[in-house]
Amino acid sequence: MASGSTRVIKRMCTVCRALKDRTELIRLVKPTGAVQIIPNPDGSISGKGFYICRQADCLNKLQKDKRLRKNFSTKLTPETTAWLQEQLNSESAETAEISPTSCDEEVKDL
Ligand SMILES: [Zn+2]
Repeated sequence: MASGSTRVIKRMCTVCRALKDRTELIRLVKPTGAVQIIPNPDGSISGKGFYICRQADCLNKLQKDKRLRKNFSTKLTPETTAWLQEQLNSESAETAEISPTSCDEEVKDL
């Protein structure tokens, strides 16, 4: 029993290979014995799972990249693809504009 460990688990995006917090990634899974990949946001389905970023960029690459196509994209069901698009749409709709607060730099006369 591992207790007291509260460290954030990082997962790797299959497409861009960036390590990210689980919440920033979308989990997909190929259930054991199945040939098609389905969404599995809560991680409840056991099988060969993988993650991709919640970014149109990574989703597009997943569908276009030759290597990824062979491994993943051809196995995505139309429902899965639609679901992924929805994730992106809902995500971008909620995205608040974050303006970086510029730190007041002291301009010094040299
Ligand atoms: Zn990515």
